[in-house]
Amino acid sequence: MFPSRYVQRLLLGSLLASGLTPGQAQQPLVPKGPVVIRNVNVVDVRAGQVISNQQVVIRGGCIDVVGRQAPAGGAVLTIDGRGKYLIPGLWDAHSHALTSQPAADAALAQYLVHGVTGVRDVSSARPRAELAETVRAVDAGERPGPHLVLAGVLDGPGTFSPGARLAHTQAQGRAQVDTQAAAGWACIETRALLPRAAYLGAAEAAAQRRLGFGGDIPEAVTVGEALAAGHRCVAHLDKVLLGCSPRETEIVAARAAILTGPRPAWTLQQHRAEQQAAINADFNPGRCARLAADLVQRGTFVVPLLGADQAESPNGPGTCARWHGAADSTTVALHRQLVAMLHHEGVRLLAGSDAGPQQDAAYGLGLIEELERLVAAGLPPDEALLTATLVPAVLLGRQTELGEVAPAHNADVVLLDANPLDDIRNLRRVQTVIVRGRIYNRAALDALAAEAAKPAATLRTVAR
Ligand SMILES: [Zn+2]
Repeated sequence: MFPSRYVQRLLLGSLLASGLTPGQAQQPLVPKGPVVIRNVNVVDVRAGQVISNQQVVIRGGCIDVVGRQAPAGGAVLTIDGRGKYLIPGLWDAHSHALTSQPAADAALAQYLVHGVTGVRDVSSARPRAELAETVRAVDAGERPGPHLVLAGVLDGPGTFSPGARLAHTQAQGRAQVDTQAAAGWACIETRALLPRAAYLGAAEAAAQRRLGFGGDIPEAVTVGEALAAGHRCVAHLDKVLLGCSPRETEIVAARAAILTGPRPAWTLQQHRAEQQAAINADFNPGRCARLAADLVQRGTFVVPLLGADQAESPNGPGTCARWHGAADSTTVALHRQLVAMLHHEGVRLLAGSDAGPQQDAAYGLGLIEELERLVAAGLPPDEALLTATLVPAVLLGRQTELGEVAPAHNADVVLLDANPLDDIRNLRRVQTVIVRGRIYNRAALDALAAEAAKPAATLRTVAR
């Protein structure tokens, strides 16, 4: 089959621009001057609408111009955007892509293939220096991958998270945050087994050091306590659902007591399983509405991670599912109801995939699936799209450079064959991905996907 006229033009323009021979056509293009995407439909995620027939000029990895007219001449590459839709690159707010080095390269490539140009990684298993080297190599263009933001993991004794920092007492919680800050972590991710005192100590230290602080709300802490302590980003809905039960304080106290006994992780897991039906039956909409109002008032972010519930998903349950997920149908339905309610009340929701080594097929695709789940739960497509574009930009304090197709923003953009505001599944129809000024056309994305699918893939170094 001959490539479409669009692909031919892109390939031809690309080859001329890059000086590559046809045999190297699957490499990303790194144009040495401005690129113009002509006559494209720009998806304005802020307004939730499409602006048709726009000229988008990209220069040095940044968006220079978006408008009816593009400055004449000067472009080294023109991409025909007719009939296509340009969105900001997507962000995954919760991933375990960097858990192991051999898997990471393929995982990061798969993210790009699906139009995900930013990932917040919460892996715990590797030393920070190793993770930082991966970030450096990707940023330098030595390996293909999205922008990466790292969070340092803090948990309690009995953790399921290999490599997590552990704390038991308030002083240890403080000390671990101090150590993580000194090691360069800008963000602390808490996990379920962190004891209450250690959590409060860590929260205090993180606030003093102005570090990002969030993650699982520990089992020994109520949602209200966590919000008051400065928990900025809540991962998973299980503790939010528990917060909608009038017996939350009693159940949290029971769990805190289990943490001090023998085999805490195993016993807690049993307790959670036994209590879930009662928690679901206790669901109190009024209490839930007050909790949502508190989340809105404090500007807290919530990452629902509905994928962690999907034990029946072809990709298997998410990485955190061992603790949070594999939920029964009533819990899954309540989580969806919660998402709809939190969204309706104006809580800042973030899309996250929970993708990790147990489900490596879901890197990138898992985020698209999560966006589809958010729409199935009741979010309109334009508002679902916000959870992977503008909202993560706000979380990271980078809304002047990320999350929109707008002048002065990073040119991390995705060209789609169809309008995602009509149908969120159109996010699967990726034609071209641009990240850090590198242009991956469909052929380059297919080559990247093929290489990432090889067992223990070792991706080639990307040509500069
Ligand atoms: Zn997770």
